[in-house]
Amino acid sequence: MTHVHIIGGGLAGLSAAVDVIGRAGVTIYEAGPACGGRARSYYDKALGARIDNGNHLLLSANKATFRYLGLIGAEKTLTGPGAPLFPWFDLSANLGWTLKLSKGRVPFWAFARNRRVPGMKLSELAMLGRILKAGPEDTVSEYLGDGMLSQRLLEPFAISALNTPVETASAALLGAIMRETLALGGTACCPWYPAEGLSESFVDPAIAHITRLQGEVRCGTRVSGVDVAQGRVRGLRIGNETIALGPEDKVVFAAPSQVARSVLEAHLPGFEAPDAYESIINVHYRLPGPVQARGMLGKVGFVGLVGGVAEWVYLKGEILSVTVSAANRYADRDNDELIAKIWSEIRQAVGPVLVETLPVAVPPVRLVCEKRATFAATPAQDRLRPQARTALENLALAGDWTQTGFPSTIEGAIRSGSEAIRALGL
Ligand SMILES: Cc1cc2nc3c(=O)[nH]c(=O)nc-3n(C[C@H](O)[C@H](O)[C@H](O)COP(=O)(O)OP(=O)(O)OC[C@H]3O[C@@H](n4cnc5c(N)ncnc54)[C@H](O)[C@@H]3O)c2cc1C
Repeated sequence: MTHVHIIGGGLAGLSAAVDVIGRAGVTIYEAGPACGGRARSYYDKALGARIDNGNHLLLSANKATFRYLGLIGAEKTLTGPGAPLFPWFDLSANLGWTLKLSKGRVPFWAFARNRRVPGMKLSELAMLGRILKAGPEDTVSEYLGDGMLSQRLLEPFAISALNTPVETASAALLGAIMRETLALGGTACCPWYPAEGLSESFVDPAIAHITRLQGEVRCGTRVSGVDVAQGRVRGLRIGNETIALGPEDKVVFAAPSQVARSVLEAHLPGFEAPDAYESIINVHYRLPGPVQARGMLGKVGFVGLVGGVAEWVYLKGEILSVTVSAANRYADRDNDELIAKIWSEIRQAVGPVLVETLPVAVPPVRLVCEKRATFAATPAQDRLRPQARTALENLALAGDWTQTGFPSTIEGAIRSGSEAIRALGL
C-alpha cells in the first residue's frame, strides 16, 4: 500500500492527510510540540487562559475549508451570526454602523442607508468590478479612491485578507478573494470563527480522524533534509536517523516556505518560494468575567475598527482579543505603548455597548506577534510561489505559500493540501 509521508502538521499538512487517509497510509512529521502551525490554541500561563495564537475569520465562501471540517466532523465547532453582518466602528469619526450585505449578486445593500457604509457613493461600486479584472503587477492602492467605500470597507478588507499594506499588496490576489466572496453576494460572505478555539475546530478533530484510520502523527519530529536519487525522494533525515522510503512511498512537503528553501533548493534546480513576510499582532486582554455585549456586537461576536491601530475586536468569553494585520509597520513601536493605545480604542469603540463597564487601567494582557504570519502578498512574492507538482516524481508541495491562487489563508492552506495529493496521483 502507498504510504504518504507528510512534513509539517499545519493545516496544509493536515488537509493532505485527511484527503488521502483510508486510500494510503499516512505519517505526519511535525517539528513543534503540537500540530496546527500558524493556526493553533494553547494555554497561556500569564493570562491563566487558553487562547488562539491569532483570531481567524472565515467566510461561508471558503468551500475547501467547510469540506475539510465536514470530513473531520467539526462543522459544528464554528460560530457566527449566520448572516452577512459586519459591525464596524470608525474611531476618528466616533461612528458605528453595520454592513448588511444582500444575499445575491445584486448589491441592494448599497442602496439602503441602514445597510451600507456611511458616506459611500454609489459610483464607488464600479471599483469592485475593476479590482476583479486587476492585472498581475497591479497593487491594491492603484484601485482605491478617497471615498468612504474605500476607506471604510475595501482598504480594511484588503489588509485583513492579504495581510499586506495596500500600497504594495497585489490587486490580482484581492480580486481572487473578491471573485469568490463579495462578487457573489452575502450568501458567500457570512462570517464564521471557532466557537472554542482554532485547535478544537481545525486540529484536534483532524488528528482524531487520522489516527482512527491508522495514520500516525509524530510531533516534536523535525525533518532536516531529504535524500534524493534517480528523480525520487529516497529518505527523510530526522536528527541522526534516516527514514528509508519504499518504492511506493510519496512525500508531501507542507512546512513553511523558508524551510522549503533550505531543505529542497539543492534538489530542485531553479526552486523559488516566497521570501518576504508580514507579521500579525494579536493582543488578548483578560477581564474578570465573561464579556457580554448588547446589540449587533452581541449577535455577531466581533467588530471591525477603522481609523486607529486595532482592526478587529473579538469577544471570547473573558478575553477581549484584538487583531492588527500587516503589522511590520508597527515593528518599532513599544509593546506597552501599543497595548495601552489599543485598550483606549477598545474602550471607545466597544465599551459603550458592553453590559459591564470596562476598567480604565489595562487588564492582564498578552501581546502575540507572529513575525512570519504570512508571506507578503505582493505581485513579486506571488510570482515566486511554486506549483504543487515538483520535478521529483514522489514529492509534492503544500502550504499557503504554494500557488493556490489565494493569499495566505486557511482556505489556501487547505486547498494546497488537497492539490498536493492530486499532484501525487492519489
Ligand atoms: C496571527 C494570524 C492570523 C491569521 N488570520 C487568518 C484569518 O483570519 N483567516 C485565514 O484564513 N487565515 C489567517 N491566517 C493565515 C493562516 O493561519 C495560515 O494561512 C495557515 O494556518 C497556514 O497553514 P500551513 O499549513 O500552510 O502553514 P503552517 O501553519 O506554517 O504549518 C507548517 C508546519 O510545518 C511545521 N514545520 C516547520 N519546519 C518543519 C520541519 N523541518 N519538519 C517538520 N515540520 C516542520 C511547523 O511547525 C508548522 O506546524 C492567520 C495567520 C496568523 C499567524
